[in-house]
Amino acid sequence: MRMLTALSDLIVPIDCGGCGRTGTRWCDRCNTRIRDAPIELTPRIDVGVPVWALGRYRAPFATSVLAMKEHRRSDLAVPIGDALAAMLGTLAQWSELPDARHLNLVPAPTRTLAARRRGGDTVTAFARVAAARLGPGVSVTPLLHTAGSARDSMGLDARHRASNMSGAIRIRAIPSGLHDRPFVLVDDVLTTGATAAESVRILAAHGISILCAAVVAGA
Ligand SMILES: [Zn+2]
Repeated sequence: MRMLTALSDLIVPIDCGGCGRTGTRWCDRCNTRIRDAPIELTPRIDVGVPVWALGRYRAPFATSVLAMKEHRRSDLAVPIGDALAAMLGTLAQWSELPDARHLNLVPAPTRTLAARRRGGDTVTAFARVAAARLGPGVSVTPLLHTAGSARDSMGLDARHRASNMSGAIRIRAIPSGLHDRPFVLVDDVLTTGATAAESVRILAAHGISILCAAVVAGA
């Protein structure tokens, strides 16, 4: 294994996805920082629910997210997902969540085609890691997206189809038998809060009440 790592290092240099340090894909220092106590954000646009972040928009929080999105570092889903799971556990300890072992994680909307080009939706990827860590009572339900294929609007009625056309955040057909657990919106970066606010609003309009939002990096 060590030899394989050394060989691949000759082809693709290995850098820490958080700080760029060479020789490791994710260093201990970044791992310690990303697992520190969550911070509560006060976005410019009122999201309507509390918003928690692993950290501010800087290394290793913003850099790891960018590395996943722009440099195909899908391996970073593991440390980010682990840290998200730890954050949800902490929020339960702080009574911000009833129980971190029973949740529905809703990834923030992604541009379907862009996500596909990058080889997957990064937010859903690390949300799935977090869910696996927290146990069988936590599921990931991708209900939201922005621009996508016509196929995605199938199953929507005329009103929702119209909002589809406006370019706003769209909601997929809500699966029947959705578990009756608290919903947490999950995203990689929160800047103004506009996307999170619109996500919370559109989900509420469909009877899904988000308890809080959890992001990796907050501006
Ligand atoms: Zn690092």
